[in-house]
Amino acid sequence: MKPLLEVNQIQIAFESDSEEVISVEEVSFSVNPGETIGIVGESGCGKSVTSLSIMGLLGKNGKVNKGQILFGEEDLTKVSNQRIRDIRGNEISMIFQEPMTSLNPVFTIGNQMIEGIKLHLKMNPKAAKEYAVEMLKKVGIPRANEIMKEYPHALSGGMRQRVMIAMALACKPKLLIADEPTTALDVTIQAQILELMKTLQKESNTAIMLITHDLGVIAETADRVIVMYAGQVVEEADVFTLFKEPKHPYTQGLMASIPHLEYESEQRLASIPGSVPSIKHMPAGCRFHTRCPYATERCEQEQPRLKDVQAGHKVRCWLTEEDGLRTNSDQPKEE
Ligand code: SF4
Ligand code: MG
Repeated sequence: MKPLLEVNQIQIAFESDSEEVISVEEVSFSVNPGETIGIVGESGCGKSVTSLSIMGLLGKNGKVNKGQILFGEEDLTKVSNQRIRDIRGNEISMIFQEPMTSLNPVFTIGNQMIEGIKLHLKMNPKAAKEYAVEMLKKVGIPRANEIMKEYPHALSGGMRQRVMIAMALACKPKLLIADEPTTALDVTIQAQILELMKTLQKESNTAIMLITHDLGVIAETADRVIVMYAGQVVEEADVFTLFKEPKHPYTQGLMASIPHLEYESEQRLASIPGSVPSIKHMPAGCRFHTRCPYATERCEQEQPRLKDVQAGHKVRCWLTEEDGLRTNSDQPKEE
């Protein structure tokens, strides 16, 4: 299958106090039509920046220095601003953690939805309105006709997120990028929203790139998972393999810090000692060596590359490169 999106060895840099800071380096992954790929890592690991680069939303201080972002036949790092605006909202949509940042407080829900639909689907106002109501019903909003007349602040967080999903999916995008879409919501609503995304995905074969720090959400939703640490991909695998046989010490640490998948997402990533290095002061060698229980001298000096350990399973670690076999440290396993 030809991937829908192919991110190829990108490097993203930001201008800060007239110096250039590299925030994401050597990041590669692909997304197939209709699949859900989860991107997981602690805050500051580069997962949001990577998604913003796909949408052409790095802002004036940020840029993709190296690599390609292939979407169909086009390299999104090279297309015009006009073209990326067309793609955004039509072929690629994005939903964020806090829908208030993307909903305009001074317009009604109906106004905002109708404008978007008119613009992207070239519908007349009457058809656009009917379609907007239909989309609101689809995402489970009761009294959709009345909600159309409300302003965003009058709705609950869960309702606003549903509106955002309705807007994002109205144009049947090929790719939906969802950055922490349910983090601000309570667990019940969270489950409903994820379920809803899956249903709508099946209807239109939309691929989803789900960005989260929450491994529980990943386990329930993703087909494949990319684990990021300090601006790089450290492991990639299908969701079953990743949970069953995490190979990178960082991924193993993440897994070990899940008490039960249902609980407290905020605490999950807290049990790996130390913190993510600042992008201004990346350690030499393996970027995880300052926190890794297995670090050797080589790890401090030489940077490992992301390599296949088996088909579809990639790891960036000297240990797996050397023996290829080690699994979870607390469950030694002979192979
Ligand atoms: Fe740990 Fe070394 Fe592997 Fe880095 S390369 S994760 S420091 S063992
Ligand atoms: Mg983020």
